[in-house]
Amino acid sequence: MPFTLPDLPYSPDALEPVIDTLTMQIHHGKHHNAYVTNLNKAIAGKPNLESQTVEKLIGNLAAVPEDIRAAVRNNGGGHYNHSLFWKLMAPKGKGGGGELAGELAGAIKGAFGSFADFKQKFTDMALGRFGSGWAWLCLNSDGKLCICSTPNQDNPLMNGVVDCPGKPILGLDVWEHAYYLKYQNRRPDYVAAWWDVVKWSQAEENYKAAKRG
Ligand code: MN
Repeated sequence: MPFTLPDLPYSPDALEPVIDTLTMQIHHGKHHNAYVTNLNKAIAGKPNLESQTVEKLIGNLAAVPEDIRAAVRNNGGGHYNHSLFWKLMAPKGKGGGGELAGELAGAIKGAFGSFADFKQKFTDMALGRFGSGWAWLCLNSDGKLCICSTPNQDNPLMNGVVDCPGKPILGLDVWEHAYYLKYQNRRPDYVAAWWDVVKWSQAEENYKAAKRG
C-alpha cells in the first residue's frame, strides 16, 4: 500500500475546546483513513501511479486513467488536504493562534492590507462555500497570495481542474464532518474559533516552500 494514514501531530483532545476530541477521532481515524484506503484501492496494480507522491497524482489528474480519475481526485485530494490540515493546527498558546510574524506576515499585509482584512476575507470565503469544501490561502503561479475556495476535496494543486491553481499555504476544512458534533449548523462559530488553533509557524514554512517552487 503506497499511502498510509499519518499520525496526528498531537493527541485527539489537544485542540479542545476549539475542536472536540470525538470530532478529531472520527475525522482523522475514519474520514481521513477512508480517503487513504480508497486512494490505495483506486491505484492498486498500477505501478506507475503507485510510485508517485500524492502531490504529483492530484497535480496531473489528466494523466490518471479516466475510470479511476474521480476516485483519485476525491481520495487523493482528501488525503493531501487532511495531511496538510492536521499540521496547520496546534493547541492554543502552544504554537496555535496569535498573530503571525515573519515573511508571510509581510506578504499578507502587502496582499490584503492587514492581518484583520486577511482574516475577514478568508472567513468570508469559508462561509461562502455552499456545501462541502475548503477555504485556502495559496501562492499562485505569479507568486501572488490569493484566497479561494474549492468544493469537495479539490485543492489548488489540481491544475486544470480548479479555478484557483496554486500552492496551498493555509487550508480550512468546512465539511460538516469537521465541526457538526460540536457546532451543529453554526459554521461561523467554528471558523471564528479555528483561528485560535492555527499554527502560523507551519503556514510560514508552507509559504517558504511554495516560494522555493
Ligand atoms: Mn475533513
